[in-house]
Amino acid sequence: MVFETSKQYSGSRNVNQSLWSAENWPSFSVLEMACHHCGEVYLWHEFMDKLQKARDLSGYPFRIHSAHRCALHNARVGGAPLSQHLKMAVDIGLHGHDPQKLYQYCKIAGFTGFGFYSSFLHIDLGRQRTWYGNQKAKQIWQVY
Ligand SMILES: [Zn+2]
Repeated sequence: MVFETSKQYSGSRNVNQSLWSAENWPSFSVLEMACHHCGEVYLWHEFMDKLQKARDLSGYPFRIHSAHRCALHNARVGGAPLSQHLKMAVDIGLHGHDPQKLYQYCKIAGFTGFGFYSSFLHIDLGRQRTWYGNQKAKQIWQVY
């Protein structure tokens, strides 16, 4: 049985879905965090704990557009070759959220990488950085 922890997360693995902690992460399902193409699961406790914390601060459901991606799926959707999605990153739909507040909650929860897009916020635990998906996204995020 392969078990991914925050100390050992290089390389994705298919993990036993029973290791998913519904108790610790009640707002999320293992399915929505798995690769949408093949169902590969990348279990990273520290990531999920922070995501649940951001969700609790927000008090509003997180609609996950994209989470873990296997290498094939990442290539197919045109993801960066070293995308954090290959480990774990989530794109949270902005619908129903105040984008700036959502960003603040994710920052408070401990996320370090932020991509600002027109319809979602990308968050990850990679190197501390921010970027805009495109010019339109820049305009959208700057007006808030
Ligand atoms: Zn896949």
